[in-house]
Amino acid sequence: MKITVSKFFTLISLLIVLNACKEEAKPNIAEGSDKKIEIVEKPDLFYHYSIWHAFVNKIFEGDITAGELKTKGDIGLGSYNFLDGELIMLNGQLYQAKENGKVVKPSDDIKIAYANATFFDTDDTFNLQEVPDYETLRKYINEKLPTKNIFYAFKIHGEFSKMKCGGLHKQEKPFDKGLDYLIPNRPIFERENFTGTMVGFFCPEFIGDINASGYHLHFVSDDETFAGHVMEFEAKNLKVEIDQIHEYQFVLPQTEEYRNVGFEKEFQYKKQ
Ligand SMILES: [Zn+2]
Repeated sequence: MKITVSKFFTLISLLIVLNACKEEAKPNIAEGSDKKIEIVEKPDLFYHYSIWHAFVNKIFEGDITAGELKTKGDIGLGSYNFLDGELIMLNGQLYQAKENGKVVKPSDDIKIAYANATFFDTDDTFNLQEVPDYETLRKYINEKLPTKNIFYAFKIHGEFSKMKCGGLHKQEKPFDKGLDYLIPNRPIFERENFTGTMVGFFCPEFIGDINASGYHLHFVSDDETFAGHVMEFEAKNLKVEIDQIHEYQFVLPQTEEYRNVGFEKEFQYKKQ
């Protein structure tokens, strides 16, 4: 087909209109540049102890200690043995958010069932003025990420008018309840008008049963008295720090339970 000059100009005007529509569709939820962040090529390592599929299959005991985890990263999240609290690591400090809502700094010999960690190295930072909920934060970060095919770590500090965190009920052997029961029945902690940091990761879809895909964030307040797994929040003046990660290491538990687990449980609990 021959494209005439007039058809060519019609096509160009159509493209301009389409582009203008695209601009309008952008959510106006934050201050700062709309520019995507750039890919940074450097060897950050995502350290992962145990795998998601083992955790789902009630492998609630691991054989690494808090002291060892601190040699794998300075930020992280996970759970302690027997699901004795949510694990949060921020700036090299480990926290244990217990089922009664108390937050303690555990000793280096406490054991860990499941953990993600990395040495955080800020590649990009941006600010968000008003963030009405978790979904909006995810949407905004999604727009900034240069690709969904690599891993990311986040440190997000700000003012929280509302924060709702989940905890875990400590289990005893033999472990008869799995996460399919424990997550919907988890203890929930809420607090208003305070400051703190969300810390966590993004994993691509291809991670499959090894880890949960998408975003997974934990939280600790600046006064170190409130912590847990982030469920929902309302925040303002968030400073979002992003670390791009191109290498992934997972380490399998060397326990009898892990060696004998059947992986038969098909639990589809998905983190956001
Ligand atoms: Zn969590």
